[in-house]
Amino acid sequence: MRVIWNGGELLFRLDPEDEITGKASDGYPVKLATNSCHLSGVPGDAHPDLFAVAAWTVVAPWTRRRITFDRAVSAEVAAALHDGWGIEAGPVSAEPRRAGSVLAISYSGGADSVAAATVYPEAPFVHFRRVEHPRIPNRWPHYRSDVLARLARQTGRDITIVESDLEYTLAEPRPGYPEHQAVAAGALLMADRLGLGGLGFGYEMGSRWLGGGRYLLRYTPDNFLWAPHGAWGRLFAAVGVHIVLPVGGVSEAVTMRLAVNSDLKDQVRWCLRGTDGPCRTCGKCLYKELIMAAVERRPLDTPITADRPVARKWLKPPPYGGQEMIEYGLARVPGIENTLFATALSHLRPTEESTSWLDRCYPPAIDEIPEPWRDQAATFMAEHVGFMNEDDRRRVETWGA
Ligand SMILES: [Zn+2]
Repeated sequence: MRVIWNGGELLFRLDPEDEITGKASDGYPVKLATNSCHLSGVPGDAHPDLFAVAAWTVVAPWTRRRITFDRAVSAEVAAALHDGWGIEAGPVSAEPRRAGSVLAISYSGGADSVAAATVYPEAPFVHFRRVEHPRIPNRWPHYRSDVLARLARQTGRDITIVESDLEYTLAEPRPGYPEHQAVAAGALLMADRLGLGGLGFGYEMGSRWLGGGRYLLRYTPDNFLWAPHGAWGRLFAAVGVHIVLPVGGVSEAVTMRLAVNSDLKDQVRWCLRGTDGPCRTCGKCLYKELIMAAVERRPLDTPITADRPVARKWLKPPPYGGQEMIEYGLARVPGIENTLFATALSHLRPTEESTSWLDRCYPPAIDEIPEPWRDQAATFMAEHVGFMNEDDRRRVETWGA
């Protein structure tokens, strides 16, 4: 792989051994659509390691053996690419970037990222906004990135919005981040300007410790994507932008509760389709409605019926993605046995007792937050959530066993 940056324009050329089909770090198969993309408003003089890691979030799935950057990187970044992915990176001669002191939040506006923002009320936001690609037709006009950007601006936080078409480098399954970390490409290139030492993501306990999508139903202390000692964690640390998961120790029930009770509650939006509010008809809206109904202890309120395509997976037996939250909802939503979740209920039979661990914070998630920002998260969790006991911790650590 050869990478060329021209300002915020990224151009990459595949080597003979590279392929246009690949897998993202979470194991999901992806296919390349085009070999260029753009990020708006980013400085041309960022540290070369920042350009390298920003590029890697886009080109990693297609790169098989080596990557050649247009400017020399540090030995630290080359080592992180080699140790994490077995990739030879060069040329190598730059001094490593020194970490700044600022923690920013990679802010999407969803409940999890709002909750992460609530832990650090003074943290600035960096918001990634999808824009169209000049050479790829946009068959996804219902994706309202303009609405999300407007809501992000309305938070009143210090905010940097980076516009990018990088999601259109993916042909399949659809436009999206080639790697989950591509959402941070703009933040990485802005890191010198913002003095960043850390970047907070809204990934919660399910994504960090319970396997998320890739390791369905499995305890994942060594999560490749999000553990500080995982490949991505070490690569980001090598450029002095530590991955921080402020809500990595709590479930989506807790992030939902924190978000809807926060100052930013009017700006929370997890659905990419609606303009005046969530669309209520997509799969994500259904999943979030189950969690919200559980948090609010009320019946499910959804227009989705069992004959809809988005309902199909709930008519099959488990396992399900995010199953811990399905169990949490099934145990708490009144009348759930008369909804399209009846099949899941008949298989899982959760109780409030068997799911109460999902109301508390898993302490190792706080321990792995870098020292400059750890105490604030610990104090926040002690005040607003509470920590797991030994039994709760065992639930996490035997998840899927
Ligand atoms: Zn929706």
